[in-house]
Amino acid sequence: MNFPGRFWFALSVAVVLVTLPGRAAERLKVLILDGQNNHNYKAMTPFMKSELEKTGRFAVDLSSTPPAKSPPAQWATWRPAFENYDTVMSNYNGEAWPEEVQQAFLQYVSKGGGVVIIHAANNAFPGWSEYDRMIGLGWRPAVYSDRVFLDDEGRLVRLPAGQDVGAGHGSQHAFQIRVRATAHPVMKDMPLKWMHAQDELYHGQRGPAESFNLLATAYSDPKTGGTGKHEPMVWWVPYGLGKVFTTVMGHVSGESIPALQCLGFVTVMNRACEWVATGIVTQSLPANFPTETEVRLVTSR
Ligand code: ZN
Repeated sequence: MNFPGRFWFALSVAVVLVTLPGRAAERLKVLILDGQNNHNYKAMTPFMKSELEKTGRFAVDLSSTPPAKSPPAQWATWRPAFENYDTVMSNYNGEAWPEEVQQAFLQYVSKGGGVVIIHAANNAFPGWSEYDRMIGLGWRPAVYSDRVFLDDEGRLVRLPAGQDVGAGHGSQHAFQIRVRATAHPVMKDMPLKWMHAQDELYHGQRGPAESFNLLATAYSDPKTGGTGKHEPMVWWVPYGLGKVFTTVMGHVSGESIPALQCLGFVTVMNRACEWVATGIVTQSLPANFPTETEVRLVTSR
């Protein structure tokens, strides 16, 4: 059967019209926050942005606060439009935000906005009680609030403020992540245990941990300066209609970034940014995902 040229032209226009806007509309809008951090955020943020974009699932913008000790007039120019985004990912650990920005952030999450907290972003804002409620656990001293960990049988143990250690970490090393919620969309299809590249293994995180959903832990070995407990590594907390997802993996101080290059870290971050926004994950597990014994970096994908 012969179709006239204008048929093929019309068909190709239709295909372009259907596919292009459709593909664009599928992209979730992510806003990464940085600008102050006791880590090398200038090495971290571009890498994380690029890994998110590689999935084809996200359009990523960046909003950096003024540097530390900036005058109020400079802070007055920083008003991120949280409401325009599906997910806000924080790589920020610095001075308190202006009250107006704090309120806008609370509103955004309360109304259903998604948040992903990376590593030291859970160190930020001690004393901001609503932030503590959002993140569940933060880098705080022992006297601050509750401590949560798992015992060897996998039972959740909660200790009150003042008991046991506060926030800290032993020496950096590669360590095993243990998945504790295998059915959760972010953790789906991961091996029950997988090796994470060299990182700080946070312990003694403190907070209200209300409606606390623990997704993965790591054994904090006393041989590397740890606690002998299974410490929370990945978790999420509902806040209003929103979801706040935390990974304490992701330490970067110098130019070397193995903790971020870990394909396990990247997978958790990419999937979390989708899940907090939509409640589902469409990204399959990378073929070269870390195993129980082997670290895998994105460079080896
Ligand atoms: Zn760190």
